[in-house]
Amino acid sequence: MNKLHQIIHAYGLRKTKCRTDVLSLFLANKHALTHATIEQQFGDLYDRVTLYRTLHSFEEKGLLHSINDGSGAVKYALCKEACNQHQHHDNHIHFSCTACGQTFCINEVHIPTLRMPAGYQVKELHFSAQGICNSCSRVS
Ligand SMILES: [Zn+2]
Ligand SMILES: [Zn+2]
Ligand SMILES: [Zn+2]
Repeated sequence: MNKLHQIIHAYGLRKTKCRTDVLSLFLANKHALTHATIEQQFGDLYDRVTLYRTLHSFEEKGLLHSINDGSGAVKYALCKEACNQHQHHDNHIHFSCTACGQTFCINEVHIPTLRMPAGYQVKELHFSAQGICNSCSRVS
């Protein structure tokens, strides 16, 4: 079994050509991917619905998480090991680069626990930062 099949298997998914292809695209990129990018890449091979279902099954199983970085297009990125079915632990900063337009998961920065006033229960937190990413700042 190759690495892609191992991952798909580990998340309790059946192996399909589409899942294998989409996963390999995520593994090859450090940044988050939009639906449009994925469609551009595989539009000739799979229809929109198949790609949508693939992303949805990945997100449901805890393999990918969706990111709303304020750009208007939902992006997807690989989760860290901590995620599992129906339970995501992606409380990390999402960094959007204003130069290349890519969004990155920043797992190295510790997010402090927020103390909310009595009666408030946090279910979801979104941390997003904007600036210049490391590969763009190297160029200038
Ligand atoms: Zn996750
Ligand atoms: Zn950049
Ligand atoms: Zn992320």
